[in-house]
Amino acid sequence: MVTDLVCGSNIDEMNAGASYNYKRQTYYFCGTSCKDEFTKAPVKFLKKRG
Ligand SMILES: [Zn+2]
Repeated sequence: MVTDLVCGSNIDEMNAGASYNYKRQTYYFCGTSCKDEFTKAPVKFLKKRG
């Protein structure tokens, strides 16, 4: 399981609605709307992570 950094949902990589590579890491999202939010401002969401 991974966390969708935009909405905070726990999702299964295999069932993710969208994924995005950023700085050599793949991030998974529940859908393209969350992915779009992330791609607009990745730093904003990465900062939130503990
Ligand atoms: Zn989401």
